[in-house]
Amino acid sequence: MFLTKKQDILRQYLARQNGTIAYIPTMGALHDGHLSLVSLAQNYADIVVVSIFVNPTQFDNKDDLIKYPKPIEADIEKLTLAGCDVLYHPEVDDIYPEGPDTLKNYDLGYLDDVLEGQYRDGHYQGVANVVSLLLTAVEPDFLILGAKDYQQVMVIKTMMKQDGIEAEVIVAPTRREASGLAMSSRNTRLSEKQKAAAAVISEQLEYYSDRNHRDTTWNAAQKSFVTELSQAGFEPIDYVALADAEDLTLLEEFDETRKMMILVAAYMGDVRLIDNKGIN
Ligand code: AMP
Repeated sequence: MFLTKKQDILRQYLARQNGTIAYIPTMGALHDGHLSLVSLAQNYADIVVVSIFVNPTQFDNKDDLIKYPKPIEADIEKLTLAGCDVLYHPEVDDIYPEGPDTLKNYDLGYLDDVLEGQYRDGHYQGVANVVSLLLTAVEPDFLILGAKDYQQVMVIKTMMKQDGIEAEVIVAPTRREASGLAMSSRNTRLSEKQKAAAAVISEQLEYYSDRNHRDTTWNAAQKSFVTELSQAGFEPIDYVALADAEDLTLLEEFDETRKMMILVAAYMGDVRLIDNKGIN
């Protein structure tokens, strides 16, 4: 695997390669969810590029940034074993030569104000900026993203339209633990007991994705979902929301004429977890 911390060297290296490029931006602390993206990328392109960059501009909570796990040696080993071709692992000044405070302002519309946008101030501006800069460095044919960060996929597509970036976006399904818990780098900060309790999110998502369990109103379903989360120890619960899967318009009621989605964000201890599931 070719590894560099410098954008110039990355560009020179990629310019010398023949073939298509699939690119996976990550913040490291890699788990099987990330590695499933690598294997999906290998089906699409000749060269798979991964970046590991814990982007300071997308952290609305400085403590979360400080506590974000950074096991770079283990990550390099995992990527090598997975057959990743290139790892770009920059420092902050390689991405933001003028400093991380000089962000471009993207018009993300509704996405900036709803759900994650509502609860994480400035988060998506940070995401849009860093992914734009990374895409300009890598110039991939395919951009591989995870459905776990569903709203993020929509934000990145919006940014790409505004910046005229033409990579094809491929969205990969969420990898889960045997318990159903969505894999996440932040799970390493949970105790075994907390991990077991956190599986209630996916249990509830599964339950309400079954039409037979929807003989109730969304309001009643949401209340019961929130109660289950509270009883499992989630506190606070930022949201349990029903939305149109196309544009994330929040829905007051199940509407079988739309493709819908349930999205959740809640804290287990000081670890904020998110998950979602599409329902028909
Ligand atoms: P992160 O390192 O958390 O920024 O994630 C990097 C990419 O991996 C994003 O596109 C995520 O949506 C994706 N990802 C994170 N967790 C999972 C998972 N459990 N299954 C599939 N993809 C994931």
